[in-house]
Amino acid sequence: MAREARIHRSPRDRAHAFVNAYLVETESSVVAVDSLLTVSESRAMRAGVEELGKPLRAVLLTQSHPDHYGGLGELVARDDVPVVAPQGVIDTIIRDDEAKEHILRPMFGDEWAATRTFPNTPITDGESVTVDEATFTVIDLGPSESPHDSPWVLGEDERIVFLGDQIYDRRHCYLADGFYRQWLQNIETLRRRFPRDAVFYVGHGGPVGPADWDWQRRYIETFVDAVNAADWSNRDQARAGVVETMKRFLPNDELLFLMELSIEPVAEQLGLTTAAA
Ligand SMILES: [Zn+2]
Repeated sequence: MAREARIHRSPRDRAHAFVNAYLVETESSVVAVDSLLTVSESRAMRAGVEELGKPLRAVLLTQSHPDHYGGLGELVARDDVPVVAPQGVIDTIIRDDEAKEHILRPMFGDEWAATRTFPNTPITDGESVTVDEATFTVIDLGPSESPHDSPWVLGEDERIVFLGDQIYDRRHCYLADGFYRQWLQNIETLRRRFPRDAVFYVGHGGPVGPADWDWQRRYIETFVDAVNAADWSNRDQARAGVVETMKRFLPNDELLFLMELSIEPVAEQLGLTTAAA
């Protein structure tokens, strides 16, 4: 029974955590959902596995962004375990890792792993990984918040879901990959799927629940509308206007830089600017 699984969040200090991942403790094993971005936080997550005193049996990935896979090497350590994701997530990670190296090395230095571990075990939509009595079923979403996303459902009653970044918990969001239309579609598909009392364990904050789909949809729509409405003949002013609108919508600075990184890529995607301008 999925109910008997205990879910431990990493990092344990919730305040100001950039990203979170999870250890699911079953009767005699541990399954990890995602790793963290940094070496030290992923090492602390690994220490959490050791503390539980049970073997790590699998790692499940919810999507293709580096904050969810960068620390896999530290988390897995010397264990020979499957790191499971849909082929599209695996391919995206391998394709984009070098570009992420160029972005993240200057930002994080040695905290961005010198060599990254990639997922090694593909799975297809609707297939499951079962460890002890816990069954995790993957949803292969395709492009959504990242170029390829893959939430995991624990148990047959679908009340516990590792949603990845389909809902941010009142934090500013990353839209730079440009798949907001698919993201909005996925919100409607997922909204219909899960029961009203479902609990969503997410990558940034949480847990959240079905009532939060509306907030996520409004965030995305408000952002795209703000980018569209801006006067792009003056880039700096256009940017500042979008930031102002989004800070009015969500009056905090949590993960603000992720939204700021998204403004120009989305403006370009909408044909409002050109990369060379
Ligand atoms: Zn994330």
